[in-house]
Amino acid sequence: MNPLTKTDPLKGRPPVETALFDFFKIGPGPSSSHTIGPMRIGADFIAKAAALPRETLDRAARVEVELLGSLSATGKGHGTDTAVLAGLTGNQPESCPPTVLETLRDHPPSGLVVPIPSHPLPISPSDIRFGPVRHSRPYNNTLVARLLDAGGGVLFALEYYSVGGGFIQWEGYEEPHRGKPVHPYGSMRELQERLQETGLSIHELILENEMAITGLSRPEILSRLNRLMDAMYDSVRRGLAHEGRLPGTLGVWRKARALSEHYGQSNFEVARLLGRLNAYAFAVAEENAAGGIIVTAPTCGAAGVIPAVLYAMKHDLSLGDRALREGLLACAAVGYLCKHNAGIAGAEVGCQGEVGVASSMAAAMLAHANGYDATVVENAAEVALEHHLGLTCDPVGGYVQIPCIERNAMGAVKAFNAFLLASAEKLPEHKVSLDAAIVAMNEIGHDMNIKFKETSGGGLAVSFVEC
Ligand code: SF4
Repeated sequence: MNPLTKTDPLKGRPPVETALFDFFKIGPGPSSSHTIGPMRIGADFIAKAAALPRETLDRAARVEVELLGSLSATGKGHGTDTAVLAGLTGNQPESCPPTVLETLRDHPPSGLVVPIPSHPLPISPSDIRFGPVRHSRPYNNTLVARLLDAGGGVLFALEYYSVGGGFIQWEGYEEPHRGKPVHPYGSMRELQERLQETGLSIHELILENEMAITGLSRPEILSRLNRLMDAMYDSVRRGLAHEGRLPGTLGVWRKARALSEHYGQSNFEVARLLGRLNAYAFAVAEENAAGGIIVTAPTCGAAGVIPAVLYAMKHDLSLGDRALREGLLACAAVGYLCKHNAGIAGAEVGCQGEVGVASSMAAAMLAHANGYDATVVENAAEVALEHHLGLTCDPVGGYVQIPCIERNAMGAVKAFNAFLLASAEKLPEHKVSLDAAIVAMNEIGHDMNIKFKETSGGGLAVSFVEC
């Protein structure tokens, strides 16, 4: 533990109970809160409607959805309407091929159906409506789903919240019953205390908690972790292979392949490594912008940072799979703490919670995979997060392209630099704890004007004029 950390700003927080495969989700871009969350909401509404009494279902004629807050403000550019429709027509993010979203967006077929067992109902894109951006619901990203009778009367309605990273909640939501962590911690300080008490390394502690929370065995977790890493590598490879313009009105060109070719042959060692790291981050962020399959790390918008660093560690720094897997578990611990004590959605805390948190997690991953102790891991994560504090979310035109794609590359490079700074420090030199940086992110995020929180109402989104 950092001996200079005298204050304990997160003292008394309840323990983290996030599970690995809830946090890292495989699914289509471009936004975990605007695409994956709403698709899951659509699918969840089918399940809840199916459980209604038969006499209610007998009167049901159609389903209608109203998008509110940031889901309304930037929903068109993010494809939120299409994602809800995909969910309501029976798709799930993990198994939905990207072509389904493209088809629903560009050539929606007639005769779409909400597959409520024994009571299928018709639905069309016009049943997804864009409502008010400003509202008084508890979460910015709110969606109201309604089951209507033939006269438009409401038979059943539920308010849903897409709370970031593809997580969803609804009115009256209660956390599902799960096991409790065997090594409880609610802050980095407490995590460091558990590590000292048990003598475990971070990855071992996270693994033991994961087994206790989910009931999964160690081999099951490791095997799913390998699949997750493969999905990250695949997203880098696909992005490096693709060229052309991204979808949307901005006309943004893909650059990952050109960056990789340009820097791959450089005689300058630093340019070769940083150039490739940039290319990997661009590759995934461009795949995400195109609606391709990525891993929320911790969100879709920031999905390029961690895979870029992971891919570079494997292919450019030649680290072994075991070190990478263990690094990813340490990286998860930092993400859990940020989500638990602040937020990871651009709509809640700005981009500091997306690219900032991803960079912080990647810095921790680099430190742990390279064999540094938990203090260096914390300090690397802190440095990366500290230098993203205040970062706003202002996607131009509501597309996760400008500034998002370059920002992923900046997050990956900053992660690497944070790791270099932290790993060269002598212990008493580091002044700021990760907990203090997380508390600052939370405060800044909550005081941030809503126009900087994924509504495309301020910052670059309005100062940049398309020609
Ligand atoms: S600006 Fe950042 S938070 Fe906002 S959509 Fe882009 S990546 Fe996500």
